[in-house]
Amino acid sequence: MENNNYKLAAWPAFVHAKCPRCRRGDMFATSMYGFQGQEMHKTCPHCGLTYEKEPGYFYVAMFVSYAFNVAEMVTAAVAISVLTGSHNPWLYVTIILAIAVILSPFNFRYSRVMLLYWLTPGLHYHPEMSRDKIN
Ligand SMILES: [Zn+2]
Repeated sequence: MENNNYKLAAWPAFVHAKCPRCRRGDMFATSMYGFQGQEMHKTCPHCGLTYEKEPGYFYVAMFVSYAFNVAEMVTAAVAISVLTGSHNPWLYVTIILAIAVILSPFNFRYSRVMLLYWLTPGLHYHPEMSRDKIN
């Protein structure tokens, strides 16, 4: 039977930073926490989609990343307050900065994934592109 109609679910593709158009090709060439930094593929290895559709497009991802940072910092501040009950500002500054540094690779990666998945007009999932490549 020919397998032309299968669809790949959005969430696993999002979590694994797969191409938003085919949900099969990887967006990143390196792992999230590696020593070589994060390297992104220029085009999708599976369907050939150009990820950065125009020069400087990923600057928009900085705004998404900023929103992530604010959400993480607010969450951290509330968590510190609830867990320790402390009023020492240095405790907050230290922990929040540490969290920001630890999560920065995560923010970098998922701000771009989110930009391509939800904030780019005209870029949608094409189930027919999920098929195996015919060589
Ligand atoms: Zn693709």
